[in-house]
Amino acid sequence: MAQKVEAAPFKGFAEADPDQANPWKIAQRQFDIAAQALGLDPNMASVLRECKRQLIVTFPVLMDDHTIQMFTGFRVHHNVDRGPAKGGIRYHPGVTIDEVKALAMWMTWKCAVVGIPYGGAKGGVIVDPKRLSRNELENLTRRYTSEISILIGPDRDIPAPDVNTNAQIMAWMMDTISMHAGHSVPAVVTGKPLGIGGSEGRPEATGRGCMLTTIAALKHLGIRPQDATVAVQGVGNVGYTTAKLLAERGCKVIAVSDSNGACYNEDGIELDEVVREKELNGRLRQQVCEFISNEELLELPVTVLVPAALENQIHRGNANRIKARIVCEGANGPTTPEADEILYDKGVFVIPDILANAGGVTVSYFEWVQDLQEFFWDEHDINERLERIMMRAFDNVLKVSLEKKIMMRTAACRGVPAAAQTTSYCSKSRSM
Ligand code: NAD
Repeated sequence: MAQKVEAAPFKGFAEADPDQANPWKIAQRQFDIAAQALGLDPNMASVLRECKRQLIVTFPVLMDDHTIQMFTGFRVHHNVDRGPAKGGIRYHPGVTIDEVKALAMWMTWKCAVVGIPYGGAKGGVIVDPKRLSRNELENLTRRYTSEISILIGPDRDIPAPDVNTNAQIMAWMMDTISMHAGHSVPAVVTGKPLGIGGSEGRPEATGRGCMLTTIAALKHLGIRPQDATVAVQGVGNVGYTTAKLLAERGCKVIAVSDSNGACYNEDGIELDEVVREKELNGRLRQQVCEFISNEELLELPVTVLVPAALENQIHRGNANRIKARIVCEGANGPTTPEADEILYDKGVFVIPDILANAGGVTVSYFEWVQDLQEFFWDEHDINERLERIMMRAFDNVLKVSLEKKIMMRTAACRGVPAAAQTTSYCSKSRSM
């Protein structure tokens, strides 16, 4: 069978600071800091700083030209003591097992910080989906789903969308599992289209959570939304919704970017015009705007900076040049531990990923609950419940941060003791 050559691996911003580039080492460092600050039992810490299961699959996909191309994918469970494993599926040429492990660990803390009964998981395939036709993307998704089906299921592990995956991909995943089950299994994935058991409010949920926590942070700092400017790196699902909802609350969005660079106008961005231009001409632009790089966007003098693309964007090489008053981490892992300290010392208010972007997993949980009970709520209900959970989590984390004089990220890891407590209850075997 003919074999195609894989696309060259993507080189992200992590390359700017190579010693920061391993997300798994970063996730473990963040964990160690939190475990120490929160007085976690060292035995429990040794359990929680590792991932429970790691599945690596290499599988064939039939391409449109009738050749077979081999792809590699991952599914990792960090911890499943609080409930089924939960976490998105990423399609990206730069996916690595260490990235997936880090994302799975962050999912455990994220679910714990918003009090959702899930453990942490993540999955990914090394692929640039932009190079595949729709048919090839479907073939890849269905085959990957079959390969990881030994782990996933409504009561075991429930995937969701992440970078470069969406409702259509979730529909193919659900259908693949349903074909083998002989009946529809909607609760096996979340972030599905509404017509097959998706939830109202799910596509906007992560961005809505980012908006809610940003507004709460502005209030805490005594800044009116009307006086706040915003820059968003990565105007995809999370970044676009965050920008749109912050603009609706009165903030002025002055820069947005994608992987090609940023569109900036200090008088404000017409978000829908800019995104429509990208759909038509492949580039974010509006009538009057300046093109700047993603690095320049991060360093703009804005009130709120929303990194909503990939990991390691704010590192020790640029943290000192960050001028934002608030960093709302829409992306997972955008700030390295060294940068965290620099930002903390500069008085930048960081809303950490495991809190800021927890709206997505929260509404995924609502979707799963609705699928299992086959009873659906309206959008108003969903948004109201989401707001209640996000605000409770924000207030709790802020309180711990102020009381213990620790970073918001370390305070948000109060989910760590919660997970540890469950893990200690769940240690059925003396050898654990
Ligand atoms: P997406 O694929 O919809 O959007 C990603 C955006 O980032 C795109 O606009 C892309 O052009 C841009 N991008 C990619 N590489 C970039 C680079 N190097 N510099 C600048 N921009 C770049 O993905 P998404 O679902 O919005 O996810 C974005 C981030 O949010 C990821 O870190 C993801 O893990 C996290 N997240 C997503 C969800 C969710 O519900 N989708 C939930 C929680 C966290």
